[in-house]
Amino acid sequence: MAKDPDAILSEVEEKLRFLSHLGVEFVTQEPPAVSLEETILSCQKCPLGQSRTHAVPGEGNLDAELMFVGEAPGRDEDRIGRPFVGKAGQLLTKIIHAMNFQRDEVYITNIVKCRPPGNRNPQGNEIASCQDYLFAQIEMIQPRVIVTLGKVAADFFIRSSLSMTELRGDFHDFHGIKLMPTFHPSYLIRNEGNKKLKRVVWEDMKKVMVFLGKK
Ligand code: URA
Repeated sequence: MAKDPDAILSEVEEKLRFLSHLGVEFVTQEPPAVSLEETILSCQKCPLGQSRTHAVPGEGNLDAELMFVGEAPGRDEDRIGRPFVGKAGQLLTKIIHAMNFQRDEVYITNIVKCRPPGNRNPQGNEIASCQDYLFAQIEMIQPRVIVTLGKVAADFFIRSSLSMTELRGDFHDFHGIKLMPTFHPSYLIRNEGNKKLKRVVWEDMKKVMVFLGKK
């Protein structure tokens, strides 16, 4: 059945609003001369560009329905140049498999693409310098659901003073994309004996699975 012209128009309007939110002023058919990934790999927009070993743009399916957004690369990710490959990454991979996805079917990235020294939280200026990369990835992939991992990622999208416990468990809206905040896998590892924490993360992921028809 042909799509309702009003529905097409409102989709285009929503997309243009999203692009203008990113600071885009013109839309052309020209492919970019340098890919987003190459731009991130050589980025020097903030001081983390000087201290990193490798920038970590993200990886996975560029048509993914499901996107995971963490905080920033850690030591292992900085060394290898891939997101979530250390201990927290192994747990994230288990969660992805339990959701009936393969790792290469989803897209995995971070708010900040370079490792903050000593794994400290990324600072406001670092997040601000990096945010257009994430917005461009979201615009390119157009996932149906974004799962944010931990407080830094949740706060980036939701901008509230609520705690993780208050934020998690319900879908939020980000420009028409369902956003599910949940706890960071590192936090689960640090609180290994806390069965309730594992259960609530699984409850959050089950809501995502139901929405995506995986359950
Ligand atoms: N923690 C994150 O938030 N991101 C990674 O890529 C690895 C650990």
